[in-house]
Amino acid sequence: MESIIRIENLIFEYMADGEGEQPVRAIDDISLDIERGSFTAIIGRNGSGKSTLAKNLNGLLLPSGGVIYVKNWDTRDDDHIWDVRQTAGMVFQNPDNQLVSSIVEDDVAFGPENLGVDPAEIRRRVDKALESVNMGKFRKKSPHLLSGGQKQRIAIAGVVAMKPECIIFDEPTAMLDPKGRQEIMSIIRELHEEGITVVLITHFMDEAVQADRVIIMDRGHILLDGTPENVFSEEEIIREASLDLPLAVELAQRLRKRGVKIPREIITVEGLVDYVCQYK
Ligand code: ADP
Ligand code: MG
Repeated sequence: MESIIRIENLIFEYMADGEGEQPVRAIDDISLDIERGSFTAIIGRNGSGKSTLAKNLNGLLLPSGGVIYVKNWDTRDDDHIWDVRQTAGMVFQNPDNQLVSSIVEDDVAFGPENLGVDPAEIRRRVDKALESVNMGKFRKKSPHLLSGGQKQRIAIAGVVAMKPECIIFDEPTAMLDPKGRQEIMSIIRELHEEGITVVLITHFMDEAVQADRVIIMDRGHILLDGTPENVFSEEEIIREASLDLPLAVELAQRLRKRGVKIPREIITVEGLVDYVCQYK
């Protein structure tokens, strides 16, 4: 396994607000490797440190203790901060905070322009990025006239145009309706299939089950880390962390109580439907 991000004993503290106040320790000794090409979901209740971890992964925040390597660059190394940010792009919850221009295609071009990419190459990247989020025909529109889901797709195109090897999504669907959520999830899966390393922070368990690794955070620590099948079979721990179970896991539990033997590794609705349909 080759890691693209290596986190060693990360500690992150927000400075105290005023005199006599204690700093807030949002990350308390996390060590973790993110494998190149993998799809990792991070879940955990509000305030568990997910966003703080995400911002540390691309150098928006710098460790108070420990170290993070993105490829082989220490995120604290000033000489390589742009290499770090370009390698590990970020998509946030609110697309309005990420859109900067009044025309879609200018917005998507903004990142590569800042990286000093030449104009002909920028045009190619903008075309390709807009195509990858199915927004090509909106290129001359104003982002303000688009739906939340469409705006989020433009924000993703802006990151894709910077050719990141890894994209960290911090609750990208939290403000969207179910249709918008599904569209964003299918774009995330496609980006992963094209080889981009994906880290998806989400509070939707049905999104987390689509990853190949699930990490549960709690109070700045890692509570569980494994395949979705392994993590979501730890029902007690998940309840203690105040998280929901994925719908299919919940249904499988109820079916088991009624005597229907559903294997533990079934965690998606499609998997459950397939299994029940051939059940005798
Ligand atoms: P999550 O994304 O899991 O909801 P966060 O990383 O946003 O968690 O927050 C982790 C902890 O750090 C919380 O206790 C939160 O109150 C605190 N925190 C987050 N941002 C700041 C900030 N800018 N200043 C001070 N404390 C913060
Ligand atoms: Mg957050």
